[in-house]
Order: sequence, then structure tokens, then C-alpha cells
Amino acid sequence: MVPGFFKERGYEMKLRLKPTVIPYRLPEQVVLQFNGHYAKLPDPDGTMWLLTMSLDGTRDAEGIVEHVLSRQPAAQKSAVRKAVNDFIEHKLVELPEENLQSALDAQSRTRFSRNMDFFGSMTAFGENKFAYQEKLQEAGVCVLGCGGLGTHILFDLAALGIRHLTILDFDKIELSNLNRQILYKEADIGTEKVETAKKRLLEFSSGMDIRTHSLRLQSTEDVAGVVRGHDIVICVADKPANYIGDWLNAACVRHGIPFISGGLDVRRSVFYSVDPGISGCEACWLAAARRKNSLVKRLTTMNKEQDITYERPAPAFVTLVAVTAGMIVSEAVKYITGCQPPQLTDKLKEFCFDDLSVGIAETWERDPDCRICGSDIHHRHDLGDTVVVDDR
Ligand SMILES: [Zn+2]
Repeated sequence: MVPGFFKERGYEMKLRLKPTVIPYRLPEQVVLQFNGHYAKLPDPDGTMWLLTMSLDGTRDAEGIVEHVLSRQPAAQKSAVRKAVNDFIEHKLVELPEENLQSALDAQSRTRFSRNMDFFGSMTAFGENKFAYQEKLQEAGVCVLGCGGLGTHILFDLAALGIRHLTILDFDKIELSNLNRQILYKEADIGTEKVETAKKRLLEFSSGMDIRTHSLRLQSTEDVAGVVRGHDIVICVADKPANYIGDWLNAACVRHGIPFISGGLDVRRSVFYSVDPGISGCEACWLAAARRKNSLVKRLTTMNKEQDITYERPAPAFVTLVAVTAGMIVSEAVKYITGCQPPQLTDKLKEFCFDDLSVGIAETWERDPDCRICGSDIHHRHDLGDTVVVDDR
């Protein structure tokens, strides 16, 4: 290896061991523990431990090599260089925080410091972990439905540091909501869900900018009017049961907005997402399900024709709600920050209360001829909503 080894790779900045990497010194080896993994580094003469301890943010890569060699003159320079390079390539080191540019104020840096190290565990060397939190702060998120899933999701979004929220519901709070709808309390019974949810969220995080819609959605147009301009939509509204999915899908595909949806089904919950233009959409899914299974075809047609729903409010159990909200918000973080690719596209995932498993219930693919997201999509959009949604 030649001088300039690190310069050529763009590794000229100061570096430190990530706080999520825990080093252990054992006889003749160093063990690094991170994210459930253990890396074992042979260390017969203590050079590796010295190197690990030198990753304290005060030196750049070449400076670390020089420091180690000054203490361990017998060590081979090329081997030490390679070891430092391995720390960098395996994402075990980061830039010291004082060297990171950020638009976050001091309060946000403290409030969300645990988020930052979470994102930091995924960053490559030179990447700015604060940028992920900035994306959360800047994103516009629309949540349709402020019931069980909605309130858990809203609380999680506020805790994450989402600032720009639009929320929608038409219901008032009832006593039977309090088994799962965590933003509400007994004194709130009879008040509007959206206004009470907004009040609670602002108590928790005063800097939020929350727009409310107390509205019963009745068409794709209604959904489009609410979701337009947002970066992501989370739909956990369950009414009207047989239509809301179609309207959501048509509106979000039309405006190119990714959405995540989910719901409870007695002792299981289901959840999925659609990335318009990239993944299959809800119409692709239903078409695939009908092709695979004639019973699904008959039931979905009957539901639509006769507008069949549960006779009484369906069961809704808080533990299913909490797990599902966590899944949906995790997916939202992936879309908003780009820290990892979405995991709920082209599939319906399910969480089952009975065995506490999370699995894949159904899969589908993007249909190039889909009447909602197919390749002649722009032409279709010009036709207007009724043509797009009413031919199932
Ligand atoms: Zn489609």
C-alpha cells in the first residue's frame, strides 16, 4: 500500500468507532459486538486493541496508522492500514458529531439523539446521520383515520420527530374506543377525534404543524384532495369498508404518493404498502387474488354489490394494534429517510396473535396492464375517477 491510500478513497476525515459498536478485549483477540453480530479480530500483540482504542474521533485514518505504529513499532504498516480500512468498509466508524453539518437546532439534537445513533448504525463512513432526522422533520405525512391504529401511529410519528402532519377522521370519541385508542381519555368522550388528537400531539411535541380534516371520505376525489402534496400517506381508516381501499389507491397512484395501509382481522392484523410506478398497486393485488382464487372473486364482488360489512363493530385488540402500528411506522421511516428499501411492497404481511408470528399472507406483482397503475396511466388519469374506479 502506498502513501495516499486513504486519500484516494476519500477517507481523509477524522473518524471514531460508532457508539453502537462495543469492543471487548479477550486473550489474543478483539471482539466487536454490533447489531447482534460479533466480529472476531486476531490480536496476538495488542495492536488491534490499540487501533480500536485510537478510533476516538481525534485522528484521521492516516493519523491512526501513525499513532499505532508509534506505539507498536514492530507492527506492519500495510497490515495496520488494511485494518483501519476494514473498519471503514464494514461501517464500524463514523465522523465525530462536531464535524457534521446539520440544520437541526440544539434541542432537536438532544431530543432525537437516540434516533441519530439508530440511523448512525446504518451509515457508511462520511454519511451524515443527522440528515435522516432532518428528512423526518421536513416530511409531510398524511394519516387517514384516528382510531386504534391511527392514534398509535400518530403518537409514534410525533415521537420520531415528524413535524408536518395532516390527520383525518369524522368520528367522535366513545367509551368503547378507550380499550386501544391511546391518545384519548375519559374526559374526551363526545369530542371530535381529530381535534382531541391534535391537542394531545401538541402537548407532547409543541413544535408540530398539524392540519385536521373532520370529514367522511366519499370518493377518490375526496381522498385526492386531502393527500395531494404529501410525501407519504398512511391509511388506517376502515370506513366505508368496501371502498376506502380503492379510493386511496386511485388517489395516491394518480399523484405518485407512496402509501401504507393495514387493518385488524379479529386475531390477526395485515399491512402492505404501495410505491406508485415502482411496485404493484392495490388493483394489481386484487386482480391477482381473483385470478388465483374464485372464492375471493365471488366474495369481493358480493361485498361491493351488497356493501356487506360486519353487523356490529369488529373486535379490536390493543396488542395487535400496537404491533401493527410499529410495522406501519417502520415502513414509513424507510420511505421518508431512504435508510433502507421499503419491505411491505407487493405483499400482504400479517401478524398473528395465536403464535405471535409475522409472515407473508399474500404476494403479487405489478401488472403492466393494470387499469390504475398500468403503463398508460397518464392517459387513464385524464378519464377521471368514476371511470377509473367503478369497473370492478
Ligand atoms: Zn396496479
